Amino acid sequence: MSKEHNPLRDPRKLSAATRMVHGGGKRSEFHETSEALFLNSGYSYPSSEHAELLFQNKIPGGHNYSRFANPSVDMFEDRMALLEGAEAGKAFASGMAAVTNAVMSQVRAGDHIVAAQALFGGCRYVVEDFAPRFGVASTLVDGRDPENFARAMQPNTKVVFIETPTNPTLELVDIKAVAEIAHAHGARLIVDNVFSTALYQKPLELGADLVTYSATKHIDGQGRVLGGIVLGSSELIEGDIHTFLRQTGATLSAFNAWLLLKGLETYALRVERMTDSAEKVAAALASHPKVERVIYPHHSSHPQYDLARRQMTRGSTLLAIDVKGGQQGAFALSDNLAVILISNNLGDAKSLITHPRTTTHARLTEEVRLETGVTPGLLRLSVGLEDPDDLIADLMYGLDQV
Ligand SMILES: *Cc1c(COP(=O)(O)O)cnc(C)c1O
Repeated sequence: MSKEHNPLRDPRKLSAATRMVHGGGKRSEFHETSEALFLNSGYSYPSSEHAELLFQNKIPGGHNYSRFANPSVDMFEDRMALLEGAEAGKAFASGMAAVTNAVMSQVRAGDHIVAAQALFGGCRYVVEDFAPRFGVASTLVDGRDPENFARAMQPNTKVVFIETPTNPTLELVDIKAVAEIAHAHGARLIVDNVFSTALYQKPLELGADLVTYSATKHIDGQGRVLGGIVLGSSELIEGDIHTFLRQTGATLSAFNAWLLLKGLETYALRVERMTDSAEKVAAALASHPKVERVIYPHHSSHPQYDLARRQMTRGSTLLAIDVKGGQQGAFALSDNLAVILISNNLGDAKSLITHPRTTTHARLTEEVRLETGVTPGLLRLSVGLEDPDDLIADLMYGLDQV
């Protein structure tokens, strides 16, 4: 027996935590332990014939220009594909670049998109405002009932786009049921999986065709850089998604890819700890007299608790709190916190709280906001890596001031 025969050389035999430390790594001739950072835009070739073959895609894994091929970015994509259990992934400059690419690469003028109405602001803009400008109509539905998707499907529907749990109210969409509806109509299902994280929800296994992430969130997880990724079958990723990225250029920089690759090494550790703390915070706030309701997918009070248990192995690092006293109450809580910062970012080492009505959802009308559960007293809390007892004490102090 020798090292070559060790079954653990196959990364599919490894757990997520181990994959995130070693997966996708490519050592250079210097045998470095930490992955190398390739800060180059172009490549030189040993011969004209080599260049010719490279441009004919006849040299697998070859590199010809960093807009669409860079070893640091490759390593990030490969590590993410291992985490997701996807055949392949393509990285982008931001989460919005990834979502825009995933959606727009699948449609052309005359097609139709069905999406859940509770979406991250930028994602909603892409399907509601941007796509229709180019002749791609869209219908937004209440995503909580799969029947609403079935009713909205048209013969020209090519894409169904969902986010679950949703921002900021943590409503759920039944991925498996919606995938079946999409496929029965010949459409592809795209799932934005930021809120549950790659550890705790597996959209591809539930039938999704493409999964997107803002890597800015838990994957970096330390508030440093923007990034995004689309994952799915080799056919879709190396085909439509690669072509769109290559020709339109929303490329992830090598430096950001390298930081994200390093972020993945501690990803499982961080996300597990943040989820443990989110559970504790949700439990501590659930019965507080100044709290109207706490929304947390794995808290038994969640209106879709059964689905949350079925679809997500754990309940997210985020929770929402509806504070009594409306906007005044919400502001009184946020403005009296000493540890938790007021910020619209999420998935960070630092706990962050935001008032969606006046920030991320200010662009929408009050009617649309109330339709998606964004009430005046609603706060979204992204739980970070601090000691959960400090977070609970901070929130209790804030609530006393409400
Ligand atoms: C942040 C976020 C995005 C956008 O990602 P950026 O990296 O900020 O461009 C998309 N969807 C969800 C659910 C997000 O939280």
